[in-house]
Amino acid sequence: MFGYARSVTSLSAAIDRFAPAVYRERLRRAATAAGDRGLDALLITPSPDYAYLLGYLAPPLERLTCLVVPADGEPSLVLPRLEQPLARSELGPLTEALTLVAWDETDDPYRRVRELVGGGALRVAVQDQMWARFVLRLRATLDPIELVEAGPTMSQLRRVKSSEEIERLRAAATAADEAMRAITGERLSGRTEAEVSRRISQHLLAAGHQIAEFAIVASGPNAASPHHQPGERVIGQGDAVVLDIGGSRDGYCSDTTRTAFVGEPSAEFAAQYAVLQRAQAAACAAVAPGVPAAAVDAAAREIIADAGYGELFFHRTGHGIGLETHEEPYLVASNSEPLEPGNTFSVEPGIYVAGSWGARIEDIVVCTDVGGKRLNTLSTDLHLVE
Ligand code: ZN
Ligand code: ZN
Ligand code: ZN
Repeated sequence: MFGYARSVTSLSAAIDRFAPAVYRERLRRAATAAGDRGLDALLITPSPDYAYLLGYLAPPLERLTCLVVPADGEPSLVLPRLEQPLARSELGPLTEALTLVAWDETDDPYRRVRELVGGGALRVAVQDQMWARFVLRLRATLDPIELVEAGPTMSQLRRVKSSEEIERLRAAATAADEAMRAITGERLSGRTEAEVSRRISQHLLAAGHQIAEFAIVASGPNAASPHHQPGERVIGQGDAVVLDIGGSRDGYCSDTTRTAFVGEPSAEFAAQYAVLQRAQAAACAAVAPGVPAAAVDAAAREIIADAGYGELFFHRTGHGIGLETHEEPYLVASNSEPLEPGNTFSVEPGIYVAGSWGARIEDIVVCTDVGGKRLNTLSTDLHLVE
């Protein structure tokens, strides 16, 4: 569950498109999924969903750009006239699969959406991250209408990755492993967390990410805070250091955590770390098609609880990953949905002792027909550093 929300602007720089047929198929499947859910249309503004369906990201502006995917009929793209040249060049041959509806500065784009959705529409889904100003103006213009979240429909598509997407995630995971190997090969003691964090960003880029998204460096007592912001604390002997790093490569995200230790850990720390390592391995091993997401969470949690540290593991075991660092499916006790082949997610239990130390291990795992496969290949052992 660790990683910061990606800004949509950073997403655009990193998209490397698949073949146009991939997006035609995604648009077709989105329309079918909308119909199955009793929706008349999906309204998708610039966002990861937009990038998923069209293979590029329009600039998120105060002027409305909105992909309209009716359950029946051809999709349209409503956009400011000045954005049309960019859209045409980015869409390329995919332009033929869409009607581009350019609006002029004095037009009302919400009325254009209403014309496309149709007068009889009753139920329309809006993209989950759509700006409130667009949602409110669409609601006013489309009235009377029921607006619902497009999330469930889009997630149903996005959570099952194609083999091309899995290869991108594997490449991102490999790059994160390389960055992790590089930083744990360096001396950490005597350096501040902030300095090590900046160094990790360099390693992430050098290893092939186009964007270095985050590099949590949490040392000593700071490691007990799962989302610690790296600061001016100087790393020293006897510190456990949680390194949670990630970025994006060709549009797909990496997110991996290892725990380093400066010097020799005590027998007590080593025993506690061994519990965490077993819990993480058990959760990875629990992954299989048809297994509820909650069961993977339970596999990690039981081992930690049995060792007496149940209260020290206070976050979910993992999150889906793809175009976004955090997406569905979530590995949490409340999620009884079965895993499917093509789901990709983190497995990242942690143990956190307020005021003294913390540790976490995180890998990206893909659910295949025959079970879970880790995309990260780095050892989950404690990384002993100077
Ligand atoms: Zn994570
Ligand atoms: Zn998080
Ligand atoms: Zn993470």
